[in-house]
Amino acid sequence: MIELKHCPFCGAKGKLRRVLNGYRTDPVVILDKWTVECPNKCCQIKTFESEIYQEEDGDIVIKHNGAEEAATAWNERA
Ligand SMILES: [Zn+2]
Repeated sequence: MIELKHCPFCGAKGKLRRVLNGYRTDPVVILDKWTVECPNKCCQIKTFESEIYQEEDGDIVIKHNGAEEAATAWNERA
């Protein structure tokens, strides 16, 4: 888990939030959407979608980690 920087407007610590529980079936792909926002609601970044599934050989593939991408985007902006 990436440490989140503080809000550039009020100084509160950014908060990671799952905006949407998403998935596709056959095979199952996790498509949750994530954002980081200020707990005082002064700002929010765009949402980032995860894409996680398991290969036929059993390997778990994390094509996108929306939570991590949102955290990185927040920290680069803040
Ligand atoms: Zn704020």
